[in-house]
Amino acid sequence: MSDTSGSPLDWLRESLQQLEQGGLRRDLRVRSGPQRARAMLDAREFVHFGANDYLDLAADRRVVEAACGVASESGWGSGASPLISGHTEHHKKLADALARFERVDAALLFASGFAANAGTIPALVGPGDSIFADQKNHASLIDGCRLSGASIKIYRHADANHLESLLSQSTEGSKRLIVTDSLFSMDGDFAPLAELADLRARYGCMLLIDEAHATGVFGAEGRGVAEMMDVEEAIDIKIGTLSKALGASGGFVCGRQSLIDYLANRARTYIFSTSPPAPAVAAAAAALQIVEQEPQRRETLRLAARTLRRKLSKAGWQITDSESQIIPLRVGSIDRVLSLGNRCAEDGLFIPAIRPPSVPDGECLLRLSLCYGHGERMLERLIESLSPLATET
Ligand SMILES: *Cc1c(COP(=O)(O)O)cnc(C)c1O
Repeated sequence: MSDTSGSPLDWLRESLQQLEQGGLRRDLRVRSGPQRARAMLDAREFVHFGANDYLDLAADRRVVEAACGVASESGWGSGASPLISGHTEHHKKLADALARFERVDAALLFASGFAANAGTIPALVGPGDSIFADQKNHASLIDGCRLSGASIKIYRHADANHLESLLSQSTEGSKRLIVTDSLFSMDGDFAPLAELADLRARYGCMLLIDEAHATGVFGAEGRGVAEMMDVEEAIDIKIGTLSKALGASGGFVCGRQSLIDYLANRARTYIFSTSPPAPAVAAAAAALQIVEQEPQRRETLRLAARTLRRKLSKAGWQITDSESQIIPLRVGSIDRVLSLGNRCAEDGLFIPAIRPPSVPDGECLLRLSLCYGHGERMLERLIESLSPLATET
């Protein structure tokens, strides 16, 4: 059907115009060729700071070969949801490998990290229960919380004291669940996991963390921020994605056996959604093996992140005190962030301009996602372009 007027959908065009006028309309860029540190976007080559492919595995030959091998043996589609017949030997192999990697009893694979969050939280708590959520949680955690029907109490970002005051006012007896990103996707900072672990113990609540941006990157063995902060024993429910540092697609939940068995019976986004294609699962398994066997990837990346943060700071940018590969450059207004984004693009650098609804009004930022494949020369170019812009914000 075409976009003619006089239809009940006319309001759509008006809403789009409003987005456009406010500088908030988003349009799709087309990427061609492989996902790498240098990539083609809308037919132009950029040094690419807009991907979550932190370890450069999305186009890794071994990952691609694993997918192709399984595709030619077993085909593409999985044919059904996991509980019916879509759980193939490849799915089982990856779930077992993830459980071993994470040093937990078991893991459950979802079609995406978003689905993992949207299914897990409502399976664990419901009306009459309480959720305590960080103010800056990822949209998929927020939606999972809303879907649950539990009462949602939001604590100030990374503020364990505020969380404690909310916990102390809450009633015992019903289930209580703390929900947080471990590495926040916009600010690039960490949740105070040691304090949260302490509150979990003192108040007897469940603790769920989402390691989407940290899996493969933090911790000596790459299990994430909980490993790095040495609090893994206190994590009841851990969410990860296969779609960021693992360069593939899909999400997972891991923990004790009873948790996984329960979620397989109760998480609606697991039960009522087709199992991801076996070749995609095999690609993630190959990537996981690389994460285990090549710790130098995450070590190099973390070192590069520290160096880049220091240099940007020296150039006059206000850089928050974190060590992560996600580096937000705080800009403020929508006009400003769009104009700086365009200036960078003219210099051949792609840095996404982050605007509402991803950040609150007036807190727009350029978000640098640093990847293993960004060599020294690319980073020098980045500093050269960004230095003169720092004083303009
Ligand atoms: C990206 C992201 C997700 C969603 O994962 P997908 O696999 O892309 O659906 C979930 N949680 C957080 C914190 C994320 O950043």
